[in-house]
Amino acid sequence: MPNRILRDWTDIENVNNLSAEAEVLLVRILMKLDVKGKLISNPRVIRAYCFPLKKIPENKITKWIQELTDNDLIHYNSDGKTISINRTNIFRQRLCSSKWRIIVKQVFERDNYTCSYCGQYGGKLECDHIIPFSKGGTDELENLTTACKSCNQTKKDMYLEDFLKLKSTK
Ligand SMILES: [Zn+2]
Repeated sequence: MPNRILRDWTDIENVNNLSAEAEVLLVRILMKLDVKGKLISNPRVIRAYCFPLKKIPENKITKWIQELTDNDLIHYNSDGKTISINRTNIFRQRLCSSKWRIIVKQVFERDNYTCSYCGQYGGKLECDHIIPFSKGGTDELENLTTACKSCNQTKKDMYLEDFLKLKSTK
């Protein structure tokens, strides 16, 4: 599923409870979900999709799927034919807008309403993830900085080094 960022699940109990094989299946299911986030639930189909190059007995697939449902990582959809991922355990969530607004204000105040990249004071300011969110950057204050609209739109999801390099060649 595009635009979905996997969260670090190494410290999530549901995933930790899984056998290594069930966790491999979970990863492969993620790769095979369709644009609506669904995958046919028939174990034979799952085997064909997820392990095209391996000969795995169907009953093992069934067992691993059971592990994933028991641990609340996937569920059967109401259509009775497909499974989907339980998102909150698997994907990183963006902060809700009210929390985000509070953080943004803190960042602007800390940075004295000045763009960290070009020094513009005031005007249209945005809050930039120094390590981009899409590349695993967090919403912690240390990873956030004030950027003018123009700098932020140029930086997009670039790493800081790449953005600075691009800026210096302009
Ligand atoms: Zn700027």
